[in-house]
Amino acid sequence: MNFMQIQTTATQTSGALFEAARRLIPGGVNSTARAQWSGWTPHPLFVEKGFGSQVQDVDGNVYIDYLLGLGPMILGHRPLAVTQAVVDFIQQRGTVFALPTADEAVLAQKIVDALPSVERVRLCNTGTEAVLYATRLARAFTGRTKIIRFEGMYHGFSDAVYWSKHPAIEKAGPDSQPYPVPQGPGLPAGVEANLIILPWNDADALKAAIETHGNKIAAVLTEPVMCNTGCILPEPGYLETMRAMTEKAGIVLIFDEVITGFRLSIGGAQARLRITPDLSVFAKGLGGGFPVAALGGRRDIMALVDDGRVSMAGTYTANGIAVAAANATLDELSAPGFYDALDAVSDRLRYGLQDVLTKAGLPAHVVGIGALMQVWFTTRPIRNYRDAERFADQQLFDRWWRGMLSRGVLFHPGAYENLFVSAAHTQEDIDATLDAARDVARELA
Ligand code: PLP
Repeated sequence: MNFMQIQTTATQTSGALFEAARRLIPGGVNSTARAQWSGWTPHPLFVEKGFGSQVQDVDGNVYIDYLLGLGPMILGHRPLAVTQAVVDFIQQRGTVFALPTADEAVLAQKIVDALPSVERVRLCNTGTEAVLYATRLARAFTGRTKIIRFEGMYHGFSDAVYWSKHPAIEKAGPDSQPYPVPQGPGLPAGVEANLIILPWNDADALKAAIETHGNKIAAVLTEPVMCNTGCILPEPGYLETMRAMTEKAGIVLIFDEVITGFRLSIGGAQARLRITPDLSVFAKGLGGGFPVAALGGRRDIMALVDDGRVSMAGTYTANGIAVAAANATLDELSAPGFYDALDAVSDRLRYGLQDVLTKAGLPAHVVGIGALMQVWFTTRPIRNYRDAERFADQQLFDRWWRGMLSRGVLFHPGAYENLFVSAAHTQEDIDATLDAARDVARELA
């Protein structure tokens, strides 16, 4: 059965629910990444339930799930230990108190133990909030205002950073000095005066920006692996150079590990790539599917929060559900051999996909690290966002996505998203995925 048949027959309940929802909910969904304009055409799938490595839609179709909630479900859907911890907390203790519980310091200790760069840590609810706090702290600590961020990355939707995620490059300035481009209307003009946008994986551009604006730059904000323009790895030496340059210039280096944290290792990308940032933010992998995020780092920077000079607030921060979920998740992730097993399954998928696509004669590169990857259809190496815009074949990706979905393999339709693997994925899941990929590759070749 091809994808269009599935869309007109096998997913008709999703289609009907979508039509009903869009009369009440703008776009019919509650996040841009689920919208039609993010690639979910003719309509997003509506989910009935998830279990382990799989999800079932409302029409009863079952998919091997590499969307995984866009990252949080590192233990798969409905992980027993996390679900039980949350249920126990709600039933036996409550939810929100606006007072601390002992469990918060237990969690903080686990995070500090996992991440040598994190000497002290505060919790919040989402990655967007954690990034907002990290940049605020960096500005307060340095007394400077400008933030360097990289074209093609995403750091949440706050006005201050929701610029130059995926701009039209012909309107975004020269390659080595892109202009800040707002994500859309409604972002207040003037905010961008505090942003310097740079191409990623370009140490010369970073050097030039620091030479020009060094004493005004509070922070360099980066994902250690670029996960919001597909999956792009740092070139050898790039992050090391970034670390050395920022240290020398007194600039706070912020790693946005919202996706990579607790996914690439218990110590995130920073442990795997051996770079020590000053501040880090974590979210998705930390909560095993529950909304919780964290901001942590150097003691002297975090000290600004101690006496309230820098305010971090929130009715729901460190609520009982979030803390119970994160405590249980980190216990699972800390089990001996957890990441070895996750990596082994992920590598089998990554190398397997590469093999299948290469043998079919397709111009594909499966780029990734650990349980994070994306398929690039291109003959050229992709180093940053503009390479992706110029050299990646988005139409071929779209056919790939549709073909895989029609064979029961789910991932995001966007070529700039990722495939996520969970601890619940089995060798059988991977083999079934590779069988589907073989079929699709034949069709595409
Ligand atoms: N930073 C990165 C790298 C992200 O990928 C995201 C979300 O996908 C965010 C920040 C924002 O996190 P949240 O959606 O929890 O606000």
